[in-house]
This record gives sequence, structure tokens and C-alpha cells, in this order.
Amino acid sequence: MKIGIVGYKGRMGKEIKEVFEEKGHPFVWGYDKDGETYKDIPELIIDFSLPEVLEISIKYVKNFSIPLIVGTTGLTDEQLEQLKDISNDIPIVQSYNFSIGIQLFLKIVDLLKGYEEGWDLEVSEIHHRFKKDKPSGTAKMIVEHFNKEVPISSLRLGNVPGDHTLYMANLGEVLSISHRALSRRAFVEGVLKSAEFIINKDKGFYTFTDVLFGENYQ
Ligand code: NAD
Repeated sequence: MKIGIVGYKGRMGKEIKEVFEEKGHPFVWGYDKDGETYKDIPELIIDFSLPEVLEISIKYVKNFSIPLIVGTTGLTDEQLEQLKDISNDIPIVQSYNFSIGIQLFLKIVDLLKGYEEGWDLEVSEIHHRFKKDKPSGTAKMIVEHFNKEVPISSLRLGNVPGDHTLYMANLGEVLSISHRALSRRAFVEGVLKSAEFIINKDKGFYTFTDVLFGENYQ
């Protein structure tokens, strides 16, 4: 797969470039703050940048008529709707977390759904000091799985790639579920799986849950 990366100079962009090249998928096109770098037309574009750059990714995947993977967090509801609209023509994978561990975390959360009565629920997330959005997209994904509002606490510390904990407590006990990404490579492995999944699709909107567990997973 010849890949293009929007945000190719960033922490995730550099890691994606390195891991894909290691697996034999050359980086042929990139876009960052100082514009475009071009060696060849890519076969898919991977966007890990900022929400305001999404327009650019959309423009290029339409021009090249290729799939798009979006990992950028903090997208607005309108942007998510826009991605769903264009997925009538362009295959798209969008997720706020491409790690396999968080997908398993969400499966556990599904098991807890319906047992909220009588329990206090809170989510905490810790990320590196450079992270722009707050709360994290992953924390938002976790709380969306519940039928009641769940508060989120966000800490910005050092170089932490991503820690998430769900706490449930009643007067006698505390249940907690935690996930820690040890490096950004955890996300890139998921992006690679998503690229292999989407490369031969001709349209459609998919999440990383669809990539891992199939499109009919509830
Ligand atoms: P980063 O700041 O290191 O990289 C962002 C890149 O985007 C930089 O190279 C920057 O120059 C570029 N950029 C900024 N403004 C631009 C513009 N106007 N035009 C073109 N390029 C521009 O950030 P990061 O840590 O690599 O994270 C990038 C995004 O990915 C964030 O939204 C982050 O939350 C998200 N992320 C998602 C996952 C996931 O699994 N979905 C995992 C990690 C990070």
C-alpha cells in the first residue's frame, strides 16, 4: 500500500510512517503545516492532525478517489456527519482510539451497561502535556456506552501516551477498569489493520470496532 499522511511531521504521523515503511508500505505523499510533499499518488490517506485540517484530507481523498482513515480527535458532530455523508462515495475508518486494548475495554463496558443503578461512575484520563483536546476522544467513547451522564477528569502530564480508567463505586466497594498505552505503536498497529481492511472497500463508514470485530458487532 502506498500511503499518504496528513500530519506526517507529528508524533503519530512519524510513528505511522516508520511502522508502515517497516512493513513494506511506502510513504509517498504527506501534508503538514508547511504544505504538501509528493512522490506519488497514495492509495489511502491517514489523518492524525487537528480537526481544522480535516477539510484538506477530504479534498485530497476525493481528488485521488481513495480511502481515508481518521484518527484525529476532537471532531465536531458536524464533521462526523460530514464524514458519514462522504462515505457514500469514499471508504472511511474513523476512531478516537486505534488500540486493541481499548476495544476490549469497550466490550467490558458493554457488559456493565444496565447495572448503573446505585453506583457512582467516573472516568479519568491522563495524556501528555502536548495534547490539545480535553476530554480525550476515548473517554468520550467510554461514557457514551452508559445510559447516564458520567463525569470525566482529565490530567495532562509529561509524555503519557494515554491512560484511561473507569471507576464504579457504591458505599461498600470500588470497581475499576484501566487501560494504559505503553507507546504510540499500539495505535499504529490498529491503523495498519484498518488500512488492510479499508484498502479494497469501495465506500462505507467504519469504526475500528467494525475493523476488529466485524460490521455486525453490537
Ligand atoms: P502532533 O501535534 O504531534 O501532530 C499533529 C501534526 O499536525 C503536526 O505535525 C502539525 O504540524 C500538523 N498540523 C497542525 N496544524 C496543521 C495545519 N493547519 N495544516 C497541516 N498540518 C497541521 O499530535 P499527535 O500527538 O501526533 O496527535 C495528532 C492527533 O491524533 C490528535 O488529534 C490526537 O488526539 C490524535 N490521536 C489519536 C489516536 C487514535 O488512536 N485515534 C491516538 C493518538 C493520537
